[in-house]
Amino acid sequence: MTASPIVITAISHGKELTKNFQQEFLNFLNKLNESSVDEERALSPRAHDFYLRSSSNIEVLKNSIYQYPVEDVDIIVQANTEYRKKKGLVVFDMDSTLIYQEVIELIAAYAQVEDQVAEITNRAMNNELDFKQSLAERVSLLKGIKTATLYDEIKDKLKVTEGVPELTKGLKKTGCKLAVLSGGFTPFANFMKDTLQLDFARANVLATEADATSGETILSGYTVGDVVDGECKAKTLLELAEEYNVPVESTVMVGDGGNDLPAMAVAGFGIAWNAKPKVQAAAPCKLNTNSLQDAFYIFGYTDNEIAELLEN
Ligand SMILES: [Mg+2]
Repeated sequence: MTASPIVITAISHGKELTKNFQQEFLNFLNKLNESSVDEERALSPRAHDFYLRSSSNIEVLKNSIYQYPVEDVDIIVQANTEYRKKKGLVVFDMDSTLIYQEVIELIAAYAQVEDQVAEITNRAMNNELDFKQSLAERVSLLKGIKTATLYDEIKDKLKVTEGVPELTKGLKKTGCKLAVLSGGFTPFANFMKDTLQLDFARANVLATEADATSGETILSGYTVGDVVDGECKAKTLLELAEEYNVPVESTVMVGDGGNDLPAMAVAGFGIAWNAKPKVQAAAPCKLNTNSLQDAFYIFGYTDNEIAELLEN
């Protein structure tokens, strides 16, 4: 069996990676079955690559390496191919990924139905409702809200996650296509697409109608068209790869939720961004730092290369 090239990246959440950590982690890697590190490289004082060849299956290797006890450092294991750096398409989830908030919660607060929405969210988390049912129930609470003020007020409140403008700008410069696939709603996904100059947005479409008395546009309390759930995200990612004519190996899904896992599974790689423990465990890798710009380290960029990409 031939040994395949693997790269393992350690990314510290805040401080520089210590020499002590680097040496101990190297010793740990060298003790793993049938593997030895043949090269190391600092991407940054906070991020370090270890290159090795292993005849073990990468999933088996991952399981061993992800056991390494460490605090405030993310360890990422991936195949070391040209596609680590050469990204053709990066797809982002929106709520709690591109932005800090969950849009449905902002709308619920606006419509003063937070308690009802929270109750539905809890039932969904206890698996009493699937995503489609919980979406339908939550949207039904929004019936009658005037869209003009709602959309503007919510857009004003959206807070872009640290590092997102830099990551998207830099990736775009490399020629990578960028998309947002959101289980939220089109007015906000399209707004983020415009703000961050992404290539594509898909989200749920809120049905609207004219209010019988005032004639103003109001929400009908349901969505129209296909619901953007986990399966839809996975399917759309593959369709976009085909449309942009990029190899699936060069695609990445970045998200925080269980409904981002199917797209991570079909993509070339997946990043669980500050996700729930269950999502972190099932995703190809996790990143729990303060800035999504750190995804550049996962893609093998050094601090100098990142600075160059971000120049004007
Ligand atoms: Mg999310």
